[in-house]
Amino acid sequence: MSSNEPKLTVVGAGLVGSLLSLYLARRGHTVEVLERRPDMRRETLDAGRSINLAISTRGLHALRQVGLEEEALKHAIPMRGRVIHPVKGELAYQPYGKDDSQHINSLSRGWLNQFLMTRAEETGRVKLRFRQRVTQADVTAGTLTVLDEATGETREVRDAVVFGTDGSGSAVRQAMQPRPEFHATQEPLGHGYKELTIPPGPGGGFQMEKHALHIWPRGAFMLIALPNEDGSFTCTLFLPWKGPLSFAALETPAALEAFFQEQFPDAKALIPGLVEEFFARPTGHMVTVKCAPWRAGGRTLLLGDAAHAMVPFYGQGMNCGFEDCVVLDSLLAKQQDWDEAFQAFEKLRKTNADAIADMAVENFIEMRDSTGDPRFLLEKGVEKV
Ligand code: FAD
Repeated sequence: MSSNEPKLTVVGAGLVGSLLSLYLARRGHTVEVLERRPDMRRETLDAGRSINLAISTRGLHALRQVGLEEEALKHAIPMRGRVIHPVKGELAYQPYGKDDSQHINSLSRGWLNQFLMTRAEETGRVKLRFRQRVTQADVTAGTLTVLDEATGETREVRDAVVFGTDGSGSAVRQAMQPRPEFHATQEPLGHGYKELTIPPGPGGGFQMEKHALHIWPRGAFMLIALPNEDGSFTCTLFLPWKGPLSFAALETPAALEAFFQEQFPDAKALIPGLVEEFFARPTGHMVTVKCAPWRAGGRTLLLGDAAHAMVPFYGQGMNCGFEDCVVLDSLLAKQQDWDEAFQAFEKLRKTNADAIADMAVENFIEMRDSTGDPRFLLEKGVEKV
């Protein structure tokens, strides 16, 4: 890049923005990151989109490139297969690969985000600024209007190279909307999600198989659970918004308990806080966002969920966003010009991101339905647990 270094501004210090700032710093750039939330390392925040998530080869590769894989894996729990929970009868185990080396990993989202922020700051080139909400952007001029949520004051960042990593509801993407060449689609899933907890057992250990992703496939809906380092599991209930078996139908504790007793009796026995958690926690939305172009004016680029939000059923949203950082970094190693790098980035990433987003929707059908189908179990060579 030129010696007249422009201001590099990353909007959003989520998983992708934090990692991206670290990558940019390692290339010698000075980076300012604007994050609308308070600093999660100092204030307890809701974990956000999910409490834990599955990191797989793509995401690990991105961490390896910046020397963080080993430390991250110390906090991860390998999940070597799926455990399928029928309503009645024996559990079934579906290994992910031919041997245990083929696995995905459960990792705390909050821990990972904080870890990436701290490592980015430690480069000495990244300045994270919290409670800084980008409210408007001129994506061709590189101007951002920023509301300081602590003081209520508004200021402008000018002449910046802007990286929009502000998630599925991206303000940077919205600022691209009026451009004639820009188009975007947002497809909300007809299902929402709710997180629930299986605490550690009385002795502090895991109450189900630790090294597995647990699934209760029930056709139109499902429950899943991923292990946490403290011996608990975070369960996620995916349920339609409307209809006879839906969030709308679970309005009372009695209805909720009856539903769990009928559909997930073994899980219900392990979730003592079912009613409290269910009614206290928000119900999450899921959306597929596709848009193009991801760049504007040679100085603004969307990455991560801002460019390609996907439903979580392939466990690839963050992994794909981390891969964005790897690809952009490799292009910045070769290109002398931001616009050229951004164009090449979009060319390399767009088709892949769209494909993974489509596969994620397809995998919802496999997870909630086919994993419990006896023919599928036979095809996959399923073992009893
Ligand atoms: P985000 O994580 O959404 O971060 C965006 C950041 O920008 C946030 O910190 C936000 O506060 C900030 N921000 C937003 N607007 C502004 C603004 N105007 N100004 C300043 N800051 C702003 N992916 C996986 O790879 N594996 C999984 O197992 C997995 N499980 C998931 C489970 C669920 C239930 C869900 C919903 C998603 C899951 N995902 C998973 C997807 C993953 O969560 C996302 O792909 C990932 O969080 C995207 O990271 P991001 O940094 O692009 O966006």
